[in-house]
Amino acid sequence: MKHPKVVLTADRTLMSPYRGISLASFFGCAPAIDMHRSHSSFWYHVLGNQVTPKVLFDFICNPIEQTNGRANYAPYGLRKVEAALLRDGYAREDIVVAHPDYVEQFIGPETQVVGTYEMDPLGMGPVTMTFTYGRKQTSYDEFYNADLHHRISAAKKRTGSKAKVVAGASGTWQYNYDPAKIEEYDLYGIVEGELGGIGPEIDGAAGPFFDALIGGEFDMANPFKKSQFKVEIKEFMRSDRTYHGRFIHYWNEPSVDEIPNIVNPSMHGMIEVMRGCGRGCKFCDVTLRPLRYYPVEKVQKEIEVNMKYGGLKNAWIHSDDIFVYGLNPRTTKNMQPNREAIEELFKGIMATGIEHTNPTHGTLAGAIADERLLQNVSKIIKAGPNNHIGIQCGFETGSIRLIGKYADRKLAPYKPEEWHWVVKNGVKQLNENYWVPAFTLIMGLDNDETPEDSWETIRLIHELELEQPDSKFTVTPLTFVPIGLLEKSDFYDIGNTMDPAKLGVMYKTWQHNFKYGIQKFMSQVGRDNPIKNWFFTTLAGTLGGVPLTAMEKYARRKGSEHERVIEKIKATYW
Ligand code: SF4
Repeated sequence: MKHPKVVLTADRTLMSPYRGISLASFFGCAPAIDMHRSHSSFWYHVLGNQVTPKVLFDFICNPIEQTNGRANYAPYGLRKVEAALLRDGYAREDIVVAHPDYVEQFIGPETQVVGTYEMDPLGMGPVTMTFTYGRKQTSYDEFYNADLHHRISAAKKRTGSKAKVVAGASGTWQYNYDPAKIEEYDLYGIVEGELGGIGPEIDGAAGPFFDALIGGEFDMANPFKKSQFKVEIKEFMRSDRTYHGRFIHYWNEPSVDEIPNIVNPSMHGMIEVMRGCGRGCKFCDVTLRPLRYYPVEKVQKEIEVNMKYGGLKNAWIHSDDIFVYGLNPRTTKNMQPNREAIEELFKGIMATGIEHTNPTHGTLAGAIADERLLQNVSKIIKAGPNNHIGIQCGFETGSIRLIGKYADRKLAPYKPEEWHWVVKNGVKQLNENYWVPAFTLIMGLDNDETPEDSWETIRLIHELELEQPDSKFTVTPLTFVPIGLLEKSDFYDIGNTMDPAKLGVMYKTWQHNFKYGIQKFMSQVGRDNPIKNWFFTTLAGTLGGVPLTAMEKYARRKGSEHERVIEKIKATYW
């Protein structure tokens, strides 16, 4: 068999339907292995070094379907690169989007490039850093990414393939922090944007990029050569030795017309409707991209691909803030949503015949800034008691000081002083229209969060519970990761610098999710499906009670100040 010139793939955690449970896709961030576990501990006797039992993880993270080793569904970004290569003249038989379990069969003497799509390759993303205590444990993301690279290397060795292995997508910044992995994974190159953390949009110029890569243009860094791609050989000094990595920078942002439409089904029915976000939160890299919106017809074409070739009945709308869609932040006063454009977009989406749609992200301020917006969109997308619309929203912090300092435009048209009102009113209006926000908040924001800031967060969550006892929302605390305009800052080191009040934030959020989210609502999610029901019951037991007990134990170990925080939350904010 002739091997394809270009093999594109991603590790198992990015290539799973997660049994159709969208929340479960976060499971890749779960801790897999604790190499420091004491051999005399109870858990070592039960699980060895495993933290989240592998058998449970492998069950939830079921492999995506494949046809002759090709992935039937693939991450949206990978599908974009595939489409861009076809547009730019590569032949169909030259490109394979391989299922990670079958990647070896496509690697041979003719293979020139193996491109891996990586979102959290070394487990340094905010969710993962929180779950693994700042990488003290190994996450499943990191575990399966390493497994994929080791297998690619072995296949190359076995077949004598000289294929260049190139890592791309939004997580490649992580190699800057652990350069030993560049060598371990035998990476020829790492694709980075101009601003380091921000992944370049390579689908605008995939053909020229792969041509240059295959043609050996990136072998040597040549600062004098005129090219849209720049090669930088970075040197990393670590205590015992020096590592090198070839970073390939690309920074032209394609216009909407230069962005190709996918030609094969994407994972979870994901398609995008916009790139960039004009809100300017300092801790976010999305906002560094120029804002572009897909016209409705382009959105429909991608949904039709998913329906026709993937049999999908849902469209998961990637949007950094869906309520920004269609507005011009330079000329629109106070980020007032363009209701007409948003309504037209969702009418067009539903006109394709899909049964369910929901946006990935949106801001609370945008959701409530126009009183008819949520109502009208909910009607269009048929939200109702049996069709809840999940949306991820940034809660970030309850601290008025911090939100004003780091994300004031996230609140526009409101002011930082109105943040608590925005949160409460946002939850109320979303819930009334059958939307359920999954909040994320940032712990240790820019290492600037004081205990008083943390208590403001705890109080705000509790006020929501008291004032709106039937409200539906979850809150996931994430540790601060230096990206976006704060890329020069330090990581928040949860493992070593968690002060008592921040432990309180973690404790309160888990208690909320357990009591108001997992126990109360999650069991209803699986009413009609025994597998889902089993999953959510297990999730409720494993992810609910265990972390609370673990945090109480941690507080006892740390001393009286930490213990007092737990007691105060139990007595006052429970
Ligand atoms: S609103 Fe969200 S996507 Fe937009 S800049 Fe802020 S954090 Fe980033």
